Amino acid sequence: MPISRRLRPLAFVLAWLSMWSVSMAQTDELDLPLLIPSVITPAGRDSDGDGLPDVWERHGYTVDGVFVDLPAMGANPYHKDLFVWMDYMAQPDGTSLAPSQTVIDNIKAVFANAPVANPDGTTGIAIHPLLKFQVPFAETLGSAADENKVWVDFDALKALHFPAAYAKSFRYMIWANSYDESTSSGLARDIPATDFLVTLGLWEPAGGTDWAKLGTFVHELGHCLGLTHGGSDHDNYKPNYLSVMNYFFQITGLYKNGVWGDLSQNPLLFDYQRIDTPTIDENNLNELAGLGSGVAGYGTKYYATVSGLVGEYSVADASGSIDWNKNNVYETGVVADINDDGVCSQLIAQNNWPHINYNAGGLLGSAATAAARARADAAPRPDALRHELDFATSRKIADTRGADRPAN
Ligand SMILES: [Zn+2]
Repeated sequence: MPISRRLRPLAFVLAWLSMWSVSMAQTDELDLPLLIPSVITPAGRDSDGDGLPDVWERHGYTVDGVFVDLPAMGANPYHKDLFVWMDYMAQPDGTSLAPSQTVIDNIKAVFANAPVANPDGTTGIAIHPLLKFQVPFAETLGSAADENKVWVDFDALKALHFPAAYAKSFRYMIWANSYDESTSSGLARDIPATDFLVTLGLWEPAGGTDWAKLGTFVHELGHCLGLTHGGSDHDNYKPNYLSVMNYFFQITGLYKNGVWGDLSQNPLLFDYQRIDTPTIDENNLNELAGLGSGVAGYGTKYYATVSGLVGEYSVADASGSIDWNKNNVYETGVVADINDDGVCSQLIAQNNWPHINYNAGGLLGSAATAAARARADAAPRPDALRHELDFATSRKIADTRGADRPAN
């Protein structure tokens, strides 16, 4: 008589402990045998919590005869590691869309600076962005008419070089030209996920600046790590969300201590939010309080309607008073739609780094299965991941950041 699916894990543990004979023919899912060592042996132990079992980080692992030598690629069981396989395109005129070594080093710097603890006593995440193969050029992946086709085209390119064995420990991305016939900067497959694109081929300069590359890579990888455009939700342009996940800061980086990330050439400002920020009630704004003393040093951007026109404004020190409605008076009880989403609501941000999802919702690590991945790949995409920040919008955000910044 078949054991009910819900009881199977327990049944297998009991079988293991008492040496009962249980036929493997009872299992119809590959998930199940992998559960046993993770429950009663140290094989699944993940001391640093990065989603990769210690035994893999020490000795590597083999799937279908393919050995993945994680320690040779820098894995450490006592320090969080993120592995990213990067393929890239080159445009027909020879312009490579691959990142320069500077961009790769800046990506490493952002994650090394992460305020997360490790068993080895240090902070930070060791990201390993491995630049691998050039793949055939495509003007665009997918089409404007079929927004799901981008991942069909993506999978075809991914299959060219990316070994299936690596899928248990690596994220996979392509530095590609464009998708859906748009200038959208990039795309993640889901939140969380393991697959993403950076698509700056139609930007200026072609392929984007080093800062656009850095910010977009960190942004799209952020979705793969479980982060959203609003922190607590998908609402974009929240002034209290000081993260490269907020479109306000994707291409320029954050504003801190009087400078923007790109203008000061400081990669560490292409950061996920690393502090707590207060919830803002757009129906009851206290302009005197600003965002509070906890954000000292940070500036931010917001929307306001002046003379009937919605404009972008910025403040150099968000911990001071902020004239959210731009009427030149600092008041309390102000009602204003400061993220310009058409409604006045509570804006709740997120301290991002403690919320990183290291195993992509179970798609990475010893318990990951091909069946789970197939289910995830077939699931509908979130609305927030249909069309990302495009070139014209990014230019407008960058161009309006300084001139409107009032003294406060
Ligand atoms: Zn996004």
